[in-house]
Amino acid sequence: MRPRRTAPFLVAVAALTLGACATNPVTGKQQVALISEQQEIALGQQGAQQAVAQFGLVQDHELQRYVSAIGTKLAAQSERPQLPWSFAVVDDPTPNAFALPGGPIFVTRGLLALLNSEAELASVLGHEIGHVTARHSVAQISKQQLAQLGLGLGMILAPQLQGLGDLAGQGLQLLFLKYGRDAERQADDLGFRYALQQNYDVREMADVFAALQRATEGQGGGRLPNWAASHPSEPERIAAVQRRVAAAGRSFEGTRSGKDDFLRQIDGLTYGADPRQGFFREGQFHHPELKFQFRVPGDWKTQNSTNAVIAVSPRQDAAFQLTLVPGETSPEQAAQQFARQQGLQAQAAREEFNGLPGVLAAFQAQTPQGTVEGYAAFVRHGGRTYQLVGYSPQPEFANNDRTFRQILGSFGPLNDSRILNVQARRLHVATLGSATTAADFARRESPGITPEQFAVLNQIDDPNARLPAGALVKVVRGDRP
Ligand SMILES: [Zn+2]
Repeated sequence: MRPRRTAPFLVAVAALTLGACATNPVTGKQQVALISEQQEIALGQQGAQQAVAQFGLVQDHELQRYVSAIGTKLAAQSERPQLPWSFAVVDDPTPNAFALPGGPIFVTRGLLALLNSEAELASVLGHEIGHVTARHSVAQISKQQLAQLGLGLGMILAPQLQGLGDLAGQGLQLLFLKYGRDAERQADDLGFRYALQQNYDVREMADVFAALQRATEGQGGGRLPNWAASHPSEPERIAAVQRRVAAAGRSFEGTRSGKDDFLRQIDGLTYGADPRQGFFREGQFHHPELKFQFRVPGDWKTQNSTNAVIAVSPRQDAAFQLTLVPGETSPEQAAQQFARQQGLQAQAAREEFNGLPGVLAAFQAQTPQGTVEGYAAFVRHGGRTYQLVGYSPQPEFANNDRTFRQILGSFGPLNDSRILNVQARRLHVATLGSATTAADFARRESPGITPEQFAVLNQIDDPNARLPAGALVKVVRGDRP
């Protein structure tokens, strides 16, 4: 959750023109296009706003400019140079990259941490550009997905309690369209071609897949979510790169890797989850930046996103959501606004929350899925008003009534200086003074991660391998959580 305020998401479903025919820019073939290029662009822009609101951008202008310059160069030589391309690094620790219709492309800082050179980055951006130029995203869009775009986390009530398990994912369905393996292969092909056109050493595209595979295995075998899940297996993709390299029938001497430039750009990047933006520890949520805390039952599923902190009971019959009320709104005003929603009845009274002034409302809401019952609290703290809502479908409310009151009653100021001063871990680039094994160097210089994680970040297969003096490596400084 971030201190800054974000506009609430609006449900805006674009009108669809079904059945129009258009020429695919990459294949030159006629295909049924569900939407026009204009609609494609509009949809992508809307999704991009949502992605930025959801994840936030990495606050590093030089890094953003660097990634944008590389992407822009690749896209300019693609089949659709006229699109409003944009490239940005989002503040998310999960390795991922995604393309939205019409040109917006995002990579996460978690993916940058795994990469080792500009050529690798160009391969990733090229792949995502390929999804856009081949109009994969357009082909996948259905009316239903368009409608889902509106289900952002900023909504006051998410009435579909049965879907709360993947509440986090709902608003982002569109961002993580599954393209299917053929589309992924085509995007790999196109990415390879775009990167080679810019004289990158595209042999390193194979290193990206190897890095993803190492990261996946390091996480206990499950494949990485989203980016990797719908893609062909990494060994398959590596073999395909090798085939493309052979088929290129040329020397790669003089092509660009750009390892030093890339590492210099990611030096200082936040690594892993940023605890300053709030974190859960066994049901206890702390927000060092906003200086508040609260507690949910330890077995509830929790999620801390940019706009909201969410928790859901194991049986998915109860949900809790904390958001910031936008603007200079008092708890009383916020409670009035809340109570004015259609189909909602509320009884509100002033209440103190561990010394903080606020309003507590009991409410019932009519939703298409039935009646929902719960509590909403509006609490003033540090010049901001927080909205805390706990709710259940009415038949389940009685079972959860006490839990809701406990959660809301636990909201209060955070005063523990150890937690207030917690810092995110950061990536740094270090030079080896003398030859040493990766594991020894990691233990000494990279206390923020395990030697195994150090090997993954630096694309080293064996942590006991010796690294030569003068080698540039990524280390992580800071305390392990
Ligand atoms: Zn892809």
